[in-house]
Amino acid sequence: MTVSSASTTFVDRHIGARRQADIETMLKSVGYDSVDSLVDTAVPNDIRQDVALTLQAALSEVEVLAELRKLASKNKTAVQMIGQGYYDTITPPVIRRNILESPAWYTAYTPYQPEISQGRLEALLNFQTMVQDLVGLPIANASLLDEATAVAEAVLMMRRANKNKAAQDGKTVLDADCLPQTIAIVKGRAEALGFEVEVADLSLGLPEGAINGVVLQQPGVSGRVFDHSAVIASAKERGALVTVAADLLSLTLITPPGEQGADIAVGSAQRLGVPLFFGGPHAAYMAVQKGLERSMPGRLVGVSKDDAGVPAYRLALQTREQHIRREKATSNICTAQALLAIVASMYAVYHGPEGLKAIAETANGHARTLAASLKAAGVEVLHDSFFDTVTVRVPGKAAEIVAAAEAKGINLRGVDADTVGISVDETTTAAVVADVASVFGAAVLESAEGFALEASVERTSGFMQHPVFNTHRSETQLLRYIRKLSDRDLALDRTMIPLGSCTMKLNATAEMEAISWPEFASIHPFAPDSQTEGWRELITDLEAQLTEITGYDQVSIQPNAGSQGELAGLLAIRGYHLSNGDDQRNVCLIPASAHGTNAASAVLAGMKVVVVATAPDGTIDHVDLKAKIETHRDALSAIMITYPSTHGVYDADVREVCDAIHEAGGQVYIDGANLNALVGLAQPGKFGGDVSHLNLHKTFCIPHGGGGPGVGPVAAKAHLAPFMPGDAASWTEGNDVPISASRFGSAGVLPISWAYVKLMGGQGLTEATKSALLAANYIASRLNDHFPVLYTGEGGLVAHECILDLRELTAKTGVTAEDVAKRLIDFGFHAPTLAFPVAGTLMVEPTESEDLVEIDRFIEAMITIRKEIDQVANGDFSVQDSPLRRAPHTAAAVVSSDWDRAYPREQAAFPVHHLKQDKYFPPVGRIDGAAGDRNLVCSCPPIEDFEN
Ligand SMILES: *Cc1c(COP(=O)(O)O)cnc(C)c1O
Repeated sequence: MTVSSASTTFVDRHIGARRQADIETMLKSVGYDSVDSLVDTAVPNDIRQDVALTLQAALSEVEVLAELRKLASKNKTAVQMIGQGYYDTITPPVIRRNILESPAWYTAYTPYQPEISQGRLEALLNFQTMVQDLVGLPIANASLLDEATAVAEAVLMMRRANKNKAAQDGKTVLDADCLPQTIAIVKGRAEALGFEVEVADLSLGLPEGAINGVVLQQPGVSGRVFDHSAVIASAKERGALVTVAADLLSLTLITPPGEQGADIAVGSAQRLGVPLFFGGPHAAYMAVQKGLERSMPGRLVGVSKDDAGVPAYRLALQTREQHIRREKATSNICTAQALLAIVASMYAVYHGPEGLKAIAETANGHARTLAASLKAAGVEVLHDSFFDTVTVRVPGKAAEIVAAAEAKGINLRGVDADTVGISVDETTTAAVVADVASVFGAAVLESAEGFALEASVERTSGFMQHPVFNTHRSETQLLRYIRKLSDRDLALDRTMIPLGSCTMKLNATAEMEAISWPEFASIHPFAPDSQTEGWRELITDLEAQLTEITGYDQVSIQPNAGSQGELAGLLAIRGYHLSNGDDQRNVCLIPASAHGTNAASAVLAGMKVVVVATAPDGTIDHVDLKAKIETHRDALSAIMITYPSTHGVYDADVREVCDAIHEAGGQVYIDGANLNALVGLAQPGKFGGDVSHLNLHKTFCIPHGGGGPGVGPVAAKAHLAPFMPGDAASWTEGNDVPISASRFGSAGVLPISWAYVKLMGGQGLTEATKSALLAANYIASRLNDHFPVLYTGEGGLVAHECILDLRELTAKTGVTAEDVAKRLIDFGFHAPTLAFPVAGTLMVEPTESEDLVEIDRFIEAMITIRKEIDQVANGDFSVQDSPLRRAPHTAAAVVSSDWDRAYPREQAAFPVHHLKQDKYFPPVGRIDGAAGDRNLVCSCPPIEDFEN
């Protein structure tokens, strides 16, 4: 790892501690004389890969951007009128540059530490409020992964929540006018869980038989808008619950689902300013009636108060997600689509209620003009009542018409041989309408008579009356609002975020650049292949690189979060067993220390979770494993292990574990979220795994975006290849169960990982892994005397992260790991992972991207905190009156004239000297979580509450 003095490569910029002197300092502390000897000791020999990664040599930023330009030029932009759940939109430049392209927003982590997340929590609360108002339901979350999976979540929720004896075990009924990808995703999930789904035209009434829940689409994929109130009423009479998948923009004109009696509304917020992105990432939403909020998946922002009584935001009911619910799990959603939800919320702030309504009216007006013009020219228009989508019958001519439109640069939806769909959106102009009409040989009429929304579905209620949607009209004002919110938060652009398991590493600017280029961002997921050559080449190439890195035979990038990759992998295992006639294999072994999503995914894949105990040294308890294998031998489907384990160590006997499972006929799922400790050193596909997911938003530099987007590719051995996710939009109930609404999931952010791999090359990636190991071991060695490192492997070394055990200190002094996490805020740090995988601990993962200076600043903070804990132990102050329990300290608290604390103000605000220049003050003090859950408020509170 020697570096020449003229070091100017990207690898040198990506890796933080790169200077030889720094490396030597770190090695000395750990007690090794070379990085390779440290790595050789830490990583078990029998899993090491014997050949270097055969990837292309590293390119420079300039070269990578040139390659991306080339790929982009192989995509063709067009006027996108395909619809089917995806509509073109205008991302206001002030939002694009200052949110989507701003590291202050995109490098933030999920707001589990609310005191340093008030900005993004406010933006997400705005999102919830907008959704609640538009759909007419009191509680909305922020957010879900895509519309189709949001419907699947709603269907499962109805199945859990329906307590009507006659109805609860009945079938789920989907309207035939639901999006095809939605129907496919629901059917795929239902098959694994063993419940019946029926698809029927619900405008003709409900089918016979017991019905658990009904799903309607407003407007339908055909564009038709009909009054749902009658079918909803009859569903309720029969004891069913009702979900409506609704288009948010249309709800500015159409009666909201809540007012029509729906229990749940779901849908996509894509068309509110989020680019098409070739299918994602986009934020989906879910809103529910009162009483259902406690079984709702996804993250929910609520309002509580801090220790000074100041209103403050936090994630409400947090114990429902991330935190382990094991076999009782109901949803596996963890990473969602926070950044995209924030973009959509700001779009609503930017346009306000009148603006949104005007956009909707203009689109509806163009659609009606088009319908009237086509009808006048003798074309059969299928529905009279629609919002933005006109469906026409052109017997035998659909392909010809679609091709003629394409020749004019317009994409229409070829539904079948006789039917064409045309979706109007925010970007549609009168000229486009005229062009489309001309394809049908029609001239544009002045009036749109005969086409109007059915009077009974016209919206009469107001929405988005809150001041936040009605005050930021000038760009100056909005820019300052965006800046004000991001200034309240800590993201990677200000500080190290040493979160174990989450791998908060550099998201280099060069990696980010391409995502908003129109040739990538403005491509519809169902655009013809001739227009998406560049996209597909990039995706195929990335999948090939990931195949090489992981040692598997095949990769699919479709899953749009790690959790979804898990589900894809487990469904592949399920499909494999079924195809072998092993129908009884449904037990999934999961170590006690596993990430919460593991068990939840197993439940969603229709498996039975059996927990395997942890040995005192943190490895899998082999006696218990053996016993569980024996007990469940015939029913054994799989084991899910994380490697290196969630305890931050390379278990030396992982091969033995894999062999034992295989010997019993089971499959091995290796959770690859910790791949940052493996890339270039070992390949899960080679040391025993049959299938894995990776987190591109951890190891491969996609930013976390404050809780999403993410990409969770599934990688598998050849025998599982037939069971990799298929394309939901064209799925015909084969083995390839689709996982996400669109074929390539969150395609829009893939250029980031693609660029990262190209910029690093095989050698650079391997060096990054080694540097991550060095940094983690350096922290462990420096802090061990102050906070014992809980688990270590060979040579007393850890992998890429380490668990600091606070439990003994807590028992002695009362100071908790949470107190330490909150006190770190006063030092300007985001806390490490708290209480996962072991309660009472902190898990630290520095990644390879941090400089030694920053790592040392963190170590200094932790040692200073340890001295404060000693002050509690020595009786200088009680734990209740300590700077630890009273942390974090706001500026208001520190300058208050009635300072009466047992420690000086200087210690509160400037516990180390250099903070005097560079000080982050959190906007609120310690937040009372429990109070916020008791009194759940999940909408924007009245503005006066914040004016004290
Ligand atoms: C992050 C993580 C997951 C889940 O990934 P998401 O993208 O958040 O769904 C699963 N397992 C482990 C060990 C993780 O750290």
